[in-house]
Amino acid sequence: MPDLQSLLKTYFGHSEFRPLQHEIIQQILNGEDALVLMPTGGGKSVCYQLPALVFQGITVVISPLISLMKDQVDAALSNGIPAAYLNSTLTAEESRRVEAKLRTGEIKLLYCAPERFALPHFRDFLKTLPIKLFAVDEAHCISEWGHDFRADYRTLNLLKKEFSSVPIVALTATATEQVADDIVEQLGIPDVKRFISSFNRQNLNYRVERKASAFSKLVNWVNKFKGESVIVYCFSRKETDSVAEKLCNLGFNARPYHAGLQPEDRSQNQTDFINDKVDIITATIAFGMGIDKPDVRLVVHYSLPKTIEGYFQETGRAGRDGLESECVLFYGAGDQFNQKYFIEQIEDPLQKEKRYEQLNQMVGYCELKKCRRKQLLNYFGENLDQDNCEGCDVCLKTESYFNAAEVSQKILQVINETGGRFGGSHIISILLGRNQKKIRELSHNELASYGSVTNYDKGALSQILANLVDDNYIKRETGMYPTLSLVEKGYGLLNSMHAGEVTELRMDEPEVEIAPAKVKISAKGEKASRKTKIKSNLDYNQDLFERFRVLRKSLATKYRVPPYVVASDKTLIEMAHYLPQNTAELLDINGFGEVKVKRYGKVFIEMINNHS
Ligand code: ADP
Ligand code: MG
Ligand code: ZN
Repeated sequence: MPDLQSLLKTYFGHSEFRPLQHEIIQQILNGEDALVLMPTGGGKSVCYQLPALVFQGITVVISPLISLMKDQVDAALSNGIPAAYLNSTLTAEESRRVEAKLRTGEIKLLYCAPERFALPHFRDFLKTLPIKLFAVDEAHCISEWGHDFRADYRTLNLLKKEFSSVPIVALTATATEQVADDIVEQLGIPDVKRFISSFNRQNLNYRVERKASAFSKLVNWVNKFKGESVIVYCFSRKETDSVAEKLCNLGFNARPYHAGLQPEDRSQNQTDFINDKVDIITATIAFGMGIDKPDVRLVVHYSLPKTIEGYFQETGRAGRDGLESECVLFYGAGDQFNQKYFIEQIEDPLQKEKRYEQLNQMVGYCELKKCRRKQLLNYFGENLDQDNCEGCDVCLKTESYFNAAEVSQKILQVINETGGRFGGSHIISILLGRNQKKIRELSHNELASYGSVTNYDKGALSQILANLVDDNYIKRETGMYPTLSLVEKGYGLLNSMHAGEVTELRMDEPEVEIAPAKVKISAKGEKASRKTKIKSNLDYNQDLFERFRVLRKSLATKYRVPPYVVASDKTLIEMAHYLPQNTAELLDINGFGEVKVKRYGKVFIEMINNHS
């Protein structure tokens, strides 16, 4: 066995393997297949790129997105790995050059898309080469159960049929067992060894906020991360465009990304984001897969995501470099109805039921009053042995209670009196004494509790109601009619309240709407300067860090690679902490391998020396 750890340092600049990386690499070097389930940012690339360096031959990586292949190859090349790609963006001449290098053994890592693999003459060409490994990246694309199904991936069933002696490593950040089973089935490797790493992304904070005044809340968040990379996921193309426009009007540097844009505009926006020329991308879920940008500091869900699985993938794009990052979801009841409207259009009853189930899971997550991380991990079959995760809004909240006894009694009372046949908004309308046709027709304006709540608005009432559901006093039906009814615990509470036995019910104070934020206008088209220091365990010189960033950008332009390929924020922070004085010391910085030290080391060291 070659010294894997020293290869890791020499080429990738890391001094330690992350959990499972070493085992996976050994399995592959032993010529065995492997299935790798690791969260986004977990470090999957090393698992096939390091074996590619060891093998006397070629590793073929199947990757879904042609538009990102160049970045992937640039990243490998800048670590000193001889890599190339073959896809439709190359001219015939360029393709021939790559093919020639493959024949002479000058290339060890070849990226291609599944549609290329589907071409018989391409497979025939591969058969003439010493292929040592197939790496199927984003392997969940092969499964219809996954969230990014791509029909072209289905051709990959030919891998084992036509290249039976070549091992396969399939990699994905999707954690559900159903998808994993489907992947190994489709690839014809049903008994493959599975490497499943923890999906706990400790550096991510998960938060859910009320959707009321969502835009001003969004402005507050992006303002906090001014100058950093941010993704805002929206529900529709229209919303994507309008949020980007409104942010631009406030002086933020935002661009939309969705399938309705002209392909040139779309890919320009993506490229500008990757190259740090645009700070904020507002996007439909079409955006993000395969984008290896490690320094996305904030991912916002402006509307309710469709599935927990998708939500986890999307939030996973924050903080790949391991630095603290935020995931904020805006939740309002209206989004649910939007989605229900679309679900109702689905004809296949099974499909429809499945979508309702997914929606209910998502709503359940949003209304949760317990640790969100625990719930997310639970969904993926993982247990979190921690009472306080210190990284979700629930766990981070400082203890402040308010007594919800009186208002809760009224809510329970109305639900009881109306026979458990109505949904939340009707119940709230009764309590607020709204003059509505439906209320009059049902004579609900004659109930004693009609109009009995004056000190809470609709938003606050629905939060209190959500708490009561969460604490199992009230049951919310799933499916199309989310009617509310009392369960045993609720009857019990109501009775003891009537009897005067219970006068206190502790709850979180309902949140009130905040006023629109005031934002300073900055020059458009320029990346804004940062507001807050990026959080890190290391104490670092911020002034120097800012200069490193400027230097990184100019190096990126010079070498025509994205800035993160030169160095990640994490690497810059380490440098601004340890202040390496020479190339040997620079090699100790995480992320700097030999090639990067050779290529960029001198200028960084000069900058450090000039500074001190
Ligand atoms: P994935 O494909 O699983 O989303 P990547 O392969 O893109 O993840 O790696 C994510 C980040 O983790 C990259 O910035 C990479 O440099 C870093 N990384 C990978 N392995 C290690 C390691 N052993 N030590 C430190 N950082 C690592
Ligand atoms: Mg990856
Ligand atoms: Zn928590």
